[in-house]
Amino acid sequence: PTMAHSKALLVLENFIGGKFVPCSSYIDSYNPSTGDVYCRVPDSGREEVEAAVKAAKAAFPIWSSKSPLERSQILNKLADLIEHDLEAFAQAESKDQGKTIMFARTVDIPRAVHNFRFFASSILHHVTECTEMPALGCMHYTSRAPVGVAGLISPWNLPLYLLTWKIAPAIACGNTVVAKPSEMTSVTAWMMCKLLDKAGVPPGVVNVVFGTGAKAGEALVCHPDVPLISFTGSTLTAQRITEKSAPHCKRLSLELGGKNPAIIFDDADLSQCIPTTVRSSFANQGEICLCTSRIFVQRGIYNEFLKKFVAEAKKWKTGNPSDPTSDVGALISKEHLEKVRNYVKKAQAEGARVLCGEGVDPLALPPGNQKGYFMLPTVIAEVKDESCCMQEEIFGPVTCVVAFDTEEEVIERANGVKYGLAATVWSSNVGRVHRVAHRLQSGLVWTNCWLVRDLNLPFGGMKASGIGREGAKDSYEFFTEVKTITIKH
Ligand code: NAD
Repeated sequence: PTMAHSKALLVLENFIGGKFVPCSSYIDSYNPSTGDVYCRVPDSGREEVEAAVKAAKAAFPIWSSKSPLERSQILNKLADLIEHDLEAFAQAESKDQGKTIMFARTVDIPRAVHNFRFFASSILHHVTECTEMPALGCMHYTSRAPVGVAGLISPWNLPLYLLTWKIAPAIACGNTVVAKPSEMTSVTAWMMCKLLDKAGVPPGVVNVVFGTGAKAGEALVCHPDVPLISFTGSTLTAQRITEKSAPHCKRLSLELGGKNPAIIFDDADLSQCIPTTVRSSFANQGEICLCTSRIFVQRGIYNEFLKKFVAEAKKWKTGNPSDPTSDVGALISKEHLEKVRNYVKKAQAEGARVLCGEGVDPLALPPGNQKGYFMLPTVIAEVKDESCCMQEEIFGPVTCVVAFDTEEEVIERANGVKYGLAATVWSSNVGRVHRVAHRLQSGLVWTNCWLVRDLNLPFGGMKASGIGREGAKDSYEFFTEVKTITIKH
């Protein structure tokens, strides 16, 4: 950018030891709906991570010795402050990520607020175990203590939502943290840092270093004084993190990609199933790890389903994310848009049919958004199970619809991918929904609904979708070290 241009740019700073600190170099961050650089993000490396870990280590003794109630009150205060600025956060998230303002207002930011409130409450209610051995005159009990400095690495699709889903349990348990948000979506994390002092979070408890995965992320993963890493992102990056952290035997929580099936039996209530499956395919431009991307429809209703599904998908309006009537915003980057489009091209080359969206329907954009990274919700039929479109995570507004005949067959086909994060099952036969749910290789199964979450319960994937679970008890266990103590009386 030119000098005149750069004056108008938003410039972020790292947040270390309770202070904003500038960085020696910066990366450009784009507004996905216009294609313009609008923000500069610190390009942190080893030095910045070192300073942040040092600050987090220094803050640990005081923070970890506070009572759960004291920490809970601070988390609640932070939740209130974010909620107070909800609209500003939502506007920023929409601009930075490309998601619609409606989605940011109703999902991202309310959930970030709720993450703090939820862990502020759940931290007060944990109990530890105790067993007795009367014949030996012994009792045993467990005690849990925070681990130390937690490294938190988050992706770009639900920026503040997923980052706070890690920060909240980590600090509620008494750890201090160094967080590294995605270099593509750093703004709301930086805004949150401005509220920490007012909420009563002591300096050094939450440190945020901005920058790329290769530099800042890896420096955090390799730092010897960071004994645990909570990571949400792609399976490929998780493999690299696992390798890099192995020499230190770090504790890892890995929330990764998905290739989530929806299984629709011929007795499903289509009036519920169709709008929900359109939503599960295209919400947040399909950029949610839980989005449906393989739809298996029982043959008897296949044609009817396709017709209604495509009609419903076409109702979704793609447009300027800041327009409250837009249902689909911009994809995160030019490169990502290209990648998603290429999947559609590959499917076509393999003989699949594109029923709506990319390359089929015209995409009309307002003048200011012509260079944005937009794409219409796209439905593809007649795709082979072996096709890359049915095997790989596309992470965009693309979904594939195929027919099946029997329950046995569809379970096998649904399980026939490397991922195992989320699945949905649609049927009015109660026996069948339980049976199928039990046999799906998936960390989460929703029947006759999608994305209904109770944060108390475990969240996470099997197979290449992750290791570990997050939730009230699961996050508590991950972010604390347990000790078994035996007393002879
Ligand atoms: P990504 O793996 O490219 O990046 C995620 C984060 O890791 C970013 O902050 C990035 O800078 C950092 N990173 C990259 N390389 C690194 C390295 N070598 N060392 C340390 N950190 C590194 O993922 P993304 O493209 O930002 O996000 C999309 C992916 O996230 C999709 O696969 C999606 O399914 C997944 N996801 C999973 C969940 C879940 O809960 N299971 C939720 C949301 C997103």
